[in-house]
Amino acid sequence: MTMDMVTRKSLLYRTGIGGTGAYAATHVVGCSHGCRFPCYAFLMMQRFGKVASYEEWCQPRLVANALQLAQKELPRLRGKARYVHLSFATDTFMYQHPEVTALTLQLMRLINSYDIPVHTLTKGVIPDEALQLSHHNQFGITLVSVDEDFRTRYEPGTAPYPERIAGLRRAHDLGLHCFVNMEPYPPPNIWQQDVLRVLEAVDFVDEIRLGQLNYNDTVKQYPGWRAFYRRTGVTARDWCAAHGIGYGGIAAADAPRGRRRTSDPGDLFSA
Ligand code: SF4
Repeated sequence: MTMDMVTRKSLLYRTGIGGTGAYAATHVVGCSHGCRFPCYAFLMMQRFGKVASYEEWCQPRLVANALQLAQKELPRLRGKARYVHLSFATDTFMYQHPEVTALTLQLMRLINSYDIPVHTLTKGVIPDEALQLSHHNQFGITLVSVDEDFRTRYEPGTAPYPERIAGLRRAHDLGLHCFVNMEPYPPPNIWQQDVLRVLEAVDFVDEIRLGQLNYNDTVKQYPGWRAFYRRTGVTARDWCAAHGIGYGGIAAADAPRGRRRTSDPGDLFSA
């Protein structure tokens, strides 16, 4: 089935997340992963009238003029952009959507041709072709559980966890910088699990960022939810320190002096 298309007036934008020189692009409207945390990108797109319903959000549309826009905008970013993040508002390697992956790869090649690295984040599978591009590119997956029952309930269209993790491991094995966003991490009244099981599944990565679940009233119904997140953050932070992995997010700012932290603690991505 061919995907529907939209056209846009601009593509690349400077983002407040990720420090100076961080840019991002959204080359697809919607996301078939249909996360039910809920998805912040979906909430925003619905609020601003870009999508009418969850069902419409789950039918992604490619930005037909994404490459033309990038070609026009990239010359101005040379020397200014530290990297381009793909993406805050969709999934770059949308599971079982080769059209999205193909457009992402074209965009990555184009951005890299301006000596600008790309950071990708996915709940799909990182394709091998992406790993053959610039060595300065970075690759991330979002992973908040390793329980497949959680995935089918809350992230119904995403790649199964073993496939998702295997893609990131291939990037690691090629010496590429790899990160994991453990966000939005669920409290026990949404899902009972041991955070160490999730951490141990990705013990090969360079950097882990932990963030709480927002925009969901159920979180605050859990007695002591703040203390829960604090404890979980300390556990993740200390585990990362013991494994030589950079850590950002909850409790990162309290890390004892000398412990390795990510360069952008607390800079958590939403998609
Ligand atoms: S993968 Fe990201 S963008 Fe897609 S539905 Fe889930 S949270 Fe939203």
